[in-house]
Amino acid sequence: MQALVPDWASHYGEFWRAIRVRNLWFIHLRYFAVAMLAGFILIGETLLDFRLTNEQLISISFIPLIILSYNIILHKTRKYVGCEPGKLNCLHLSLIQMILDLIALMMLVYFTGTIESPLYMFFNFHMIIGSLILPGYIVYSIAGFVSLFFSSLVIFQRFGLIGSYIISGLYGSNRPHTLTYDILFITVFMLMLFISVYLGNKISRQLYKREQQLRTTLEKLNEAEKAKQKYIIGVVHEVKTPLTAIHSIIDLILKKFVGPISADVEYKLERALSRTDETLHLLNNILRLSKLKLLDIKTTEEIDINNFIITLLDKHHESVKTKNINLTYKDLREEIKSVRSDKILLELALSNILANSIKYVNENGEIEILLSNANEGVTIELSDNGIGIPKEELKKVFDQFYRASNVDRTRHEGSGMGLAVVKEIIEMLEGEIKIESPSRLALDEHAGTTFTITLPYRFQTTSYDIFEVNDQDYLSSKSNF
Ligand code: ATP
Ligand code: MG
Repeated sequence: MQALVPDWASHYGEFWRAIRVRNLWFIHLRYFAVAMLAGFILIGETLLDFRLTNEQLISISFIPLIILSYNIILHKTRKYVGCEPGKLNCLHLSLIQMILDLIALMMLVYFTGTIESPLYMFFNFHMIIGSLILPGYIVYSIAGFVSLFFSSLVIFQRFGLIGSYIISGLYGSNRPHTLTYDILFITVFMLMLFISVYLGNKISRQLYKREQQLRTTLEKLNEAEKAKQKYIIGVVHEVKTPLTAIHSIIDLILKKFVGPISADVEYKLERALSRTDETLHLLNNILRLSKLKLLDIKTTEEIDINNFIITLLDKHHESVKTKNINLTYKDLREEIKSVRSDKILLELALSNILANSIKYVNENGEIEILLSNANEGVTIELSDNGIGIPKEELKKVFDQFYRASNVDRTRHEGSGMGLAVVKEIIEMLEGEIKIESPSRLALDEHAGTTFTITLPYRFQTTSYDIFEVNDQDYLSSKSNF
């Protein structure tokens, strides 16, 4: 069974997904084909003056019913057929579909006149589709069988060994051409099948090759990205260690553990401490982002999103109280459903956004959080009436190190890394983040900002890993957030 699967595809999720989609497409197309056949019989009988014999009518009506029956079975059983090379998989399902269709088509062609049947053209269509999905040797073999079977029918009919079913309203009852015509027709028919398979196969092989090259390039790029992130983590760690030591020493001096200091020195050291704090904060954010880029999400769990938000608000309670902020939270969902996602990463993202709102609203400001249903997920909307963001800078705030021009840097400390981390996380969790300013809570002097995050109910882990990081790396990276 393995033989059907190209080597590179055995571990390539995208290939299998495409085959599954195509299988479903064929199934839908087949319902349409059945309807067309029914139309063909009906229109032929009523408008085109076909004079079908009883035998023809019964067989031609029976074939669409057979097609419909096996199509329903394929439709129902399709989802139980997996994508594992070496077992019965969706690629085998494509082959089974093709064989069933060809048998049905051969019967239809036979009962509508074989060489005189207008339906023989559909063989060509099957060959092209088959050669786009299946390996060349299989489609060539199928083309060989179809040619052999078709020419045998023509020859047997010519010598009266089997019955002929010319549609009499179309051609009259007598055989309209000679043996030479039959031979020429069969030759052209075979050529047409094999040339279609050759062209289809050549194009699909080129496409597969391109895809393979792209995949190799992508893997190399990912490797380079991984190496870059690891390098950044190394450098940041090297810088962070002495900086943390400097921070502790200044702290010790400021706490007068090494003796008295003058007011002037104290003021300078306080400034130095605050700058080292800022730099440490920046380095921590760079570390977070690099670790996120190296991370492979594996731990998803059911999250009661309402409880999750309440717990998060509890954690920020102190800073909300200190600034006397009026914070409201409303759960507006009509359908209560849990969300399957990565709790630690989600908390990190929402915490960053809430911390921003707390930071950028004035004393006695307002923050409102609304939870509602979205299409196949939930929406968390967080609005504030803080300083807002100038319209032309709205997109830029997700860039690393970007801080909007209206930020008073002496009042609001920050490195401009928080939203870059948030965006990375929300993308990893297959959600969406949008930003608006002014917000619904806008006041005359403050535009305010609204962040809208949409999360899917079910988090779909990608079928192939972009970065391969083992579980231990993942857990240790997360414990550092
Ligand atoms: P930090 O790295 O400490 O988070 P930061 O808060 O400045 O620093 P981000 O969280 O990335 O950085 O935000 C980027 C910029 O977006 C901010 O500097 C600010 O200009 C703007 N911004 C973000 N949230 C808000 C908000 N709620 N109100 C007003 N401006 C905001
Ligand atoms: Mg921030």
